[in-house]
Amino acid sequence: MKVHLKTLGCRLNQSEIDSMARQFTAQGHSITDDAEEAALFVVNTCAVTQEATRSSRQLIYRLHRANPDAQIAVTGCYAHLSPDEIGTMPGVTSVIDNFDKSSLVSIVTGEPLAVPELHDREPLARQALIGALGKTRAFIKVQDGCDRHCSFCVTRLARGEGRSRDMREIIAEIQELSAAGYREAVLTGVHLGSYGDDLGQTGGLRQLVATILAETDIPRVRLSSLEPWGITDGFFALWDDPRMGKHLHLPLQSGCDATLKRMIRRTTQHEFRAIVEAARANVPDLSITTDVIVGFPGETDDEFAVSKAFIEDMQFAGMHIFRYSQRPGTAAARLPNHVSEAVMKQRSDSLHAISQRDEGRFAARYVDTAGQVLWEAISGSTAEGFINNGYTDNFIRVRCIAPRVLTDHITDARLLAWDASAGVMDAKLA
Ligand code: SF4
Repeated sequence: MKVHLKTLGCRLNQSEIDSMARQFTAQGHSITDDAEEAALFVVNTCAVTQEATRSSRQLIYRLHRANPDAQIAVTGCYAHLSPDEIGTMPGVTSVIDNFDKSSLVSIVTGEPLAVPELHDREPLARQALIGALGKTRAFIKVQDGCDRHCSFCVTRLARGEGRSRDMREIIAEIQELSAAGYREAVLTGVHLGSYGDDLGQTGGLRQLVATILAETDIPRVRLSSLEPWGITDGFFALWDDPRMGKHLHLPLQSGCDATLKRMIRRTTQHEFRAIVEAARANVPDLSITTDVIVGFPGETDDEFAVSKAFIEDMQFAGMHIFRYSQRPGTAAARLPNHVSEAVMKQRSDSLHAISQRDEGRFAARYVDTAGQVLWEAISGSTAEGFINNGYTDNFIRVRCIAPRVLTDHITDARLLAWDASAGVMDAKLA
């Protein structure tokens, strides 16, 4: 059977769809990019904002129009929260909630799961598998769910309580992917920093990463979004190993304590600053990016001004800026004084300008230096060669024209100039 996979939203969804691709392939099915030839669509939906649910619905309609004969299996946070709504959509043949997502492949095929030992494959077969999945980096889900109660968050409603995967299973998966040619493992979870809490471990994430570094030979390890309070004693010693990607994505959400209190966040402005300062002091060249929500209920002009000043002060290397989106079932949806769309847009625009400026400032520090780049894809070619695209170990996006395709390789490169309009560093091979 030919299967067409689609995912929206977070890295965790991405890691789950990658894992489904491997499971379908192991059962003897094939993954196709062509919707018209697929017999089955799998859609991993997102519900983090109203816009995300709209995109999820549109995607299902679009797939059904492209190929009305194909079956559509829908999973993910939107399917979990609104199964009846999804179940009546045209073409949808099954709705699988988040708790059964790991069994989706056997549910829809009726066959038992059969994940192959990748290291048993011949090199050519490994290449073919990598080609089929099209990945240089693998997103590894290490935990799911969350026990916190951030008042805006619908994800914890859709994902349930925090559950950690067994460490031995994670190590085996990463080693197999490394043997199959993957160059980078990105650890993901709903609340990554809580890894091990449900297993009674303290500093569980630190321990997990230390074991991955000690027992696998994956060339790069990176952490996906990490709530700042997930940084525990001794955490920065992990970066003594040069295989650790020098990037931390620490969600701030707001730089104003009054707003943070209504958000029921665990870190204050002062605590967040201390974490960032410690991170920068311990890990030279570290890139720190963040998430910010603008227009949270009750966010006054004064609160926003405090938040904005703090954000400017932090000089993040990049920001994801979200306009607050009211999600049914969350505590924030019931708060008074919702902020108008027009005000949210103004605030978002002003933070986008800061984000673009600070991203450029961070990148500019590395102009005329050497960096190690993991090349991920080509975006075209010129008379001089292929346009290769990748990321430095501190997550600066890089492009380089070279006579050969560099995808899946880590090479030294000379960083030449930051192109602010494209948000990318031009480089040449060193
Ligand atoms: S820490 Fe907060 S924002 Fe993150 S998943 Fe848990 S409740 Fe949601």
